[in-house]
Amino acid sequence: MLHRLTISQLTGQLARREVSSRDALEACLAQIDRVDPQVKAFLSADRADARAQADAADHALAAGTTHAQKPLLGVPIALKDVLCHRGQPVGCSSRILEGFVSPYDGTVVERLKTAGAVLFGRLNMDEFAMGSSTENSAYWTTLNPWDTTRIPGGSSGGCAAAVAANEAFATIGSDTGGSIRQPAALCGCVGLKPTYGRVSRYGLVAFASSLDQIGPFTKDTRDAATLLGAISGHDRRDSTSLVEPVPDYVAALESPGAGSTPLKGLRIGVVKEFQIGGVEAGVDAAVKTGIARLRELGAEIVEVSLPHSDYAAATYYIIAPAEASANLARFDGVRYGRRVDGADPFELNSRTRGAGFGPEVKRRIILGTYVLSSGYYDAYYLRAQKVRTLIRDDFLKAFEKVDAIVSPTAPTAAFKVGEKSSDPLQMYLSDIFTISCNLAGICGLSVPCGFTGTPRLPVGMQLLGRPLGEGTILKIAHAYEQSTDWHRQVAPLG
Ligand code: GLN
Repeated sequence: MLHRLTISQLTGQLARREVSSRDALEACLAQIDRVDPQVKAFLSADRADARAQADAADHALAAGTTHAQKPLLGVPIALKDVLCHRGQPVGCSSRILEGFVSPYDGTVVERLKTAGAVLFGRLNMDEFAMGSSTENSAYWTTLNPWDTTRIPGGSSGGCAAAVAANEAFATIGSDTGGSIRQPAALCGCVGLKPTYGRVSRYGLVAFASSLDQIGPFTKDTRDAATLLGAISGHDRRDSTSLVEPVPDYVAALESPGAGSTPLKGLRIGVVKEFQIGGVEAGVDAAVKTGIARLRELGAEIVEVSLPHSDYAAATYYIIAPAEASANLARFDGVRYGRRVDGADPFELNSRTRGAGFGPEVKRRIILGTYVLSSGYYDAYYLRAQKVRTLIRDDFLKAFEKVDAIVSPTAPTAAFKVGEKSSDPLQMYLSDIFTISCNLAGICGLSVPCGFTGTPRLPVGMQLLGRPLGEGTILKIAHAYEQSTDWHRQVAPLG
């Protein structure tokens, strides 16, 4: 059952030399052999390279290196196919990058290596992170380890499914409008989207640069705190990276006042505008019970207003495609990956892009090009930027009253494969509770808060925090976890 341990449990056993990093890696690989033919979270895994890293970690442990020095020493962690890992494929689950190998390590990968992690595997995703179900992957749809007739969420569906299926001790994904929190909720794991600028985006293939952040998927909140500490911090190679010290997120989990009311003194907001119809009954019930538990733990629950919430999805679906249309212009058949030849450069370009991009990516490029075109720029893009500022101001005002905001992470539990894939608007609504966090640049996480339906499907509770308020939302989620056991439930394919 080695593959089911959390990172903190595994590092305890590694430190006591009860198990080796190689054992931990082999446990993950055996689990992949057992369940991944059904879950299909992994696009690939370089086993030889991973084994060499694990053996090197075991040598370091034998030589006396401690987890105080390298907090992730010997821990197998897998990556979303959007992060550059030198010598490994990076394809964003797109045909246009088929065969492309990353020539360098992104900052997050570099930091994970410095922390001693064993990095293995490329995880499936919606093509270029556009989607909420992994059904937009050019390769295949990843399935939910709780019920393989259902999607795992997206775009980081492979990340969430791999953690829920215990195929990796943690995974690293990216969140532009909910792609860490929503799949974490649908698969019953913890997913954290850091404050914009907290984690360097250098080496993250860009979708919408002003919204993208990298963050962890873990089995519990303590592990999320450990990983956030390892990957955060200023980086000169990302001009939007914040010059702020990285606190000890793990130490901050323990409240000095602890006892039975560890959240005493904290105010948590419930959003008036989020009390809308359309939230599945079982999801609503689980989140309400979760909020009642936060109150029992000592938090004061108050209502807050985010008056511009109604405009979040529309604003996002102008800004994100606009940035995507510019970012994806680099895939031109000349510089990266795939090329389909043509009589002249224009034909080469359009043939390559025609063959290389899937329908959702094309839809976004067309939308983004349209809202940026002269004549429409002012009416759409510029207007959306102004509304974005209003949305951020709403949050900053709310955070003058409360320390965090609580809501469902997603309006429904995992839906059936194919249920929403023919209706982009329905799919876009999966992110109705997560999107405004990216527009505002604040931080958010999803923590398991119960189950709904038969077979049981996980429900996630979202906690949003003020800019650089990760410590606070992690502490709330941790206190909540200590008094529940939702996060310890194991999926049928775990
Ligand atoms: N589902 C949203 C989209 O399709 C968000 C995706 C993401 O966060 N990468 O754009």
